[in-house]
Amino acid sequence: SLTEDSPHEIPVARALIENIERTSGSQLSTLNPQLSFDPYSYQRRASDTLAIAGIGNSGQRIKLGGAELIRVVVKKANFDKIAHKIEKLGDYKPEIIYENAGIVEIDPRDETAIAKLNAERSPRFVTVSDDVDLAVIPAFRLLAGKLHSRHPILLKDVLSRGEEMLDTGYSMLDKEIQHPVSSIQHQPDFLTRLLSASTNIGSLLCDGIGDAILAQGEEAPGQALRLSYNILQAAGSRIFKTDYVACPSCGRTLFNLQTTTAKIKAATSHLKGVKIAIMGCIVNGPGEMADADFGYVGGAPGKVNLYVGKTAVKFNIPEVEAVDRLKDLIREHGKWVEPVPRRAAFEPTS
Ligand code: SF4
Repeated sequence: SLTEDSPHEIPVARALIENIERTSGSQLSTLNPQLSFDPYSYQRRASDTLAIAGIGNSGQRIKLGGAELIRVVVKKANFDKIAHKIEKLGDYKPEIIYENAGIVEIDPRDETAIAKLNAERSPRFVTVSDDVDLAVIPAFRLLAGKLHSRHPILLKDVLSRGEEMLDTGYSMLDKEIQHPVSSIQHQPDFLTRLLSASTNIGSLLCDGIGDAILAQGEEAPGQALRLSYNILQAAGSRIFKTDYVACPSCGRTLFNLQTTTAKIKAATSHLKGVKIAIMGCIVNGPGEMADADFGYVGGAPGKVNLYVGKTAVKFNIPEVEAVDRLKDLIREHGKWVEPVPRRAAFEPTS
């Protein structure tokens, strides 16, 4: 989070480096695959659409691949733990049960398996087997490179999440140096699981790879679902809640970025799909707002300018009333809805 004070970012930065050190390697240096996509520019991999079994007994099928939403998958064991409260999961509902989806698991280095799949005219839902001794990112890049693009791909956050690896912890490390398989090399804490899932799945989504995701490194089903949806949101792949962009702040910042961001979030976090930029100054802020729908930008000390897209529409609003004026602006542009009183919507399952 760029709005945090820098010292709060240091533990996360350290954990990211540790994660990279654990999982990096030149495992694919001897492979020279013919890629089926351009890895140097962003474009979602153009898979075909596939309809597969959805959740529930209605027999309803759910589409994935092509331009469909990137779907959230759960293993059946985890689904069974939350099935009794599925309606209470709100925006964090699972969409596909792994074991019911006819998923083809392969080792992307297996030329015979790849050739067999590529010869199939109908799309198949494909993923990397859990027992493949490759790190997650190169494994899925290799799969995407070699598999015909008609076949949708399921991304996983970790491979080889065998219980025996978790149970034996660091004693496995020697083995893993020879077989550096996954992001999880020992009993990981939540930060490690979160960062592994975010960097692995997030990187692949930003490559344009992935039609569905499975967070299997996190055992708690509720936590895994929240993680899955938040990774999709952060990668810009599937927006299911309000999206915020904030500048990192610097000597030019004209208001307290952290408290202001908190105030804006408190007022707007129910606006699904609306993107709001919070920028400390007009010097560089407007240029950094990316594709935000609305902008809240420091115009002068104690004064705020409001933007629609990259166009300034309200100037020098006193800071004390600027959040209310932002709400008015969102209303004027038809993107405001009244917040629904919160129910006990979602109790995490531990
Ligand atoms: S937008 Fe302005 S205040 Fe924010 S980091 Fe950039 S220059 Fe500094």
